[in-house]
Amino acid sequence: MSDPIPAEPMLISEDLHRVYRLQGTEVNALRGVSLSLQPAEFLAITGPSGSGKSTLLHLLGGVDIPTRGRVRLAGQDLGSLTETQRARFRLETVGLVFQRFHLLPMLSAAENVELPMAEAGAGRGERRDRARLLLERVSLSDRRNHKPGQLSGGQRQRVAIARALANRPRLLLADEPTGELDRSTSEEILDLFQSLNAEGTTIVVATHDLALAEGANRQVAIVDGQLRGPGSGGR
Ligand code: ADP
Ligand code: MG
Repeated sequence: MSDPIPAEPMLISEDLHRVYRLQGTEVNALRGVSLSLQPAEFLAITGPSGSGKSTLLHLLGGVDIPTRGRVRLAGQDLGSLTETQRARFRLETVGLVFQRFHLLPMLSAAENVELPMAEAGAGRGERRDRARLLLERVSLSDRRNHKPGQLSGGQRQRVAIARALANRPRLLLADEPTGELDRSTSEEILDLFQSLNAEGTTIVVATHDLALAEGANRQVAIVDGQLRGPGSGGR
């Protein structure tokens, strides 16, 4: 039996390096990371603190650019874009979820979710309808008018995920999304990622949380700026 014809990868990184230069010292945060992700994969990147997980997510999502190497996302070489083009492409293609939510405290849950749609130029009616749908999707319909301070940690993280999905991203990137949550709340977040993934969203999470990592389809470990583990030629 032959394998099905592979789809074009959603994400390809080739030999990524990122050197941070700070007051005369250099940190080699990434030292040659290559990976490829198919559409609708769910990848967990694990590794100790300081190993380069956040740096890698930022490069994969076009938040930052590599010192050397290339990222190709949804058929687009990110290095060939100007900064403005890259910001626009990111807004339309990538959803970002962080450990600490980054919700605006003065805005309601629904308004937070609408914000990236407003940035992308969606009209008011469309924004409202889609925010309603997304909050329903994360089981927060009854909290749409609550401000972040009136929500639990797990609820805030679900609002952040709904916001990340606002512009129908091809790729959802989450950096330690359960880092500040208790066990049962973390399980809720994993369930949500798994069902989004089952609906076709490609997901990459960076995490210390082994239960979350084990819920992904694939895991890679990063140590000292390099991939380790099955198939990555670790030493
Ligand atoms: P992780 O997310 O796995 O904890 P990071 O990607 O945040 O790791 O950091 C990798 C390395 O790069 C660390 O040694 C960190 O101190 C360094 N680093 C991260 N961001 C910066 C920055 N903006 N400037 C200088 N050094 C940085
Ligand atoms: Mg980090």
